Amino acid sequence: MRIYKADWVYPVSSSPIKNGIVITSDQGCILDVLHDEQVEYAAALENAEKVDGVICPGFVNTHCHIELSYLHKHLQKHTGLTGFISELQKNRTSFSAEIIEFEIQKALQEMQQNGIVAVSDICNGNSTLSAKTKSSLYTHSFIDLFGFDPLKATTIFENGLELYTQFKQAGLPTSITPHAPYSTSFKLMQLIVEHCKLNNQALSIHNQESEDENELYLSKKGKFAELLRHFGYDLSHWSFSATRSLPGYFEFIRSENPTLLVHNTYSSASDIQYVAAKNVFFCCCPNANLYIENTLPDLTVLINEKVQLTLGTDSLASNHQLCIWEEIKTIHRQFPALSLHTVLNWATLNGARFMRIDEKFGSLEKGKTPGIVALPGGANFTGSAIKLV
Ligand SMILES: [Zn+2]
Repeated sequence: MRIYKADWVYPVSSSPIKNGIVITSDQGCILDVLHDEQVEYAAALENAEKVDGVICPGFVNTHCHIELSYLHKHLQKHTGLTGFISELQKNRTSFSAEIIEFEIQKALQEMQQNGIVAVSDICNGNSTLSAKTKSSLYTHSFIDLFGFDPLKATTIFENGLELYTQFKQAGLPTSITPHAPYSTSFKLMQLIVEHCKLNNQALSIHNQESEDENELYLSKKGKFAELLRHFGYDLSHWSFSATRSLPGYFEFIRSENPTLLVHNTYSSASDIQYVAAKNVFFCCCPNANLYIENTLPDLTVLINEKVQLTLGTDSLASNHQLCIWEEIKTIHRQFPALSLHTVLNWATLNGARFMRIDEKFGSLEKGKTPGIVALPGGANFTGSAIKLV
């Protein structure tokens, strides 16, 4: 048994406890969470490990591309999304398999050291498979498919199924997902969504990461339209009535499975209202948004619409570190009125609910093994996150 005593304990599923106590089994299972005056045995407190600041559950990172870890510090900042994609294409071929594997293992370790216990990870290949099977970090691999030519949709989907089967056979939680509204034909989206419905699986879609994506849907103009035409794609098969991206494609996919919309940097109140009643979660990756577009989503709009928010780090190609606490600190700098309790909810329990792992992760509640994190700089939003369990 282990006993932790902190200035504040944030169970997340209930209100913060001043002078709180967390009692766990040796394996990290929560046995009790209480106020220090509620501890019946004074002797128990003598054995308590004193933690400065705040104790909270392990973080759930709902958006990462672990396979891109080798690109850390290689891509230019503030290039905008289309510039970032070009940078990615230019840089991704010149690294050996050994370096890629080494950087993947390092990234998994870095996340755990920073208190992350579970991650939703986007995969375009199988380079992370081996490291994930050896890691104690909980991972859900989203096999990410894209391709704008509807004639190639079946082939792309079948290739994706092969990759999906590899992850499944390795015992890793996996599903197939469309990459983004600007990169996936409706035919391909349809195949993916049918597969997810059949298997009762979650989706994770990059959503409204740039204004060009809205432009593409509204008028078939803007940088994405130019880029697609440059690659020889025909936009004539887009025959729906002119609308912004999110209502445009969501009407089409009609997902009832948990669906994560990632980034939402250019989502309006009416876009959000369109999907608000559905089983949708909104993931913010603030440090990656600053890295790529040098802007942040309007969190006040998302909060006013009462959506379920989660946090993600995105990849080391567009972030300095894989650390949810650093994402929280960035949010605090931009939106200082938000309480630690609110943002921790996004960083833990909401993410666990999206991933449907909240029976084990996401809050300090009896019977869960959510991981335990110390935040010495807690409500001041300073310092580092320290993994205790
Ligand atoms: Zn991403």
